[in-house]
Amino acid sequence: MSSKILIIEDEEKIARFVELELGYEGYTTTKAFDGRTGLELAETGEFDLILLDVMLPQLSGMEVLRRIRRTSSVPIIMLTARDSVVDKVFGLDSGASDYITKPFAIEELLARIRTALRKTMPEDVVLSASGLMLDTSRHTVSVKGTPIELTKREFDLLHFLLKNKGLVLSREALLENVWGFDFAGETNAVDVYVRFLRGKIDEVFDIKLIHTVRGVGYVIKDEP
Ligand code: CA
Repeated sequence: MSSKILIIEDEEKIARFVELELGYEGYTTTKAFDGRTGLELAETGEFDLILLDVMLPQLSGMEVLRRIRRTSSVPIIMLTARDSVVDKVFGLDSGASDYITKPFAIEELLARIRTALRKTMPEDVVLSASGLMLDTSRHTVSVKGTPIELTKREFDLLHFLLKNKGLVLSREALLENVWGFDFAGETNAVDVYVRFLRGKIDEVFDIKLIHTVRGVGYVIKDEP
């Protein structure tokens, strides 16, 4: 099902342009040209995301934002004409998910919409590949029903690889996401931990879980 986006923007040309572009991307949209109508629509709770202009007739964008936030945590991206730090800080403090300054490139708006929508999607609790199951809520790992003991770092590395199943991840990306910025440069740590994981998983259960992509990094793939 496509995500529903409410566009609250009094500049009709901008609203129509955004509506058209979002339509191409497969989103379903509704437009409101003033704050009061926008708020009423938002309060139906039907929308997955709201684009909200700051300068609006009848009810300002900030006021609309405040009122929506009384009852809803729907992602809201503020559209601000002025490149004003005050607006941005105030908007984010009042619960906006993000803001974008007009005029904006549509690609940038689309990227921010994707990010904001992704944040609201619940993460999968159980991740799996090649007979291995990782349960993020219980913090357990098992292969074909047999539990495996992992250290925290091994678990985190396996979790990140599984979350990105099918994507080849560079050592740098793994370091940054699993170890954090403090470890930048120590890419051999990744190789060491991949070896640990293979020792506990691939070798014990005779499966091929973590694949090396020479010169690039590592990937977990589902074996056919
Ligand atoms: Ca406006």
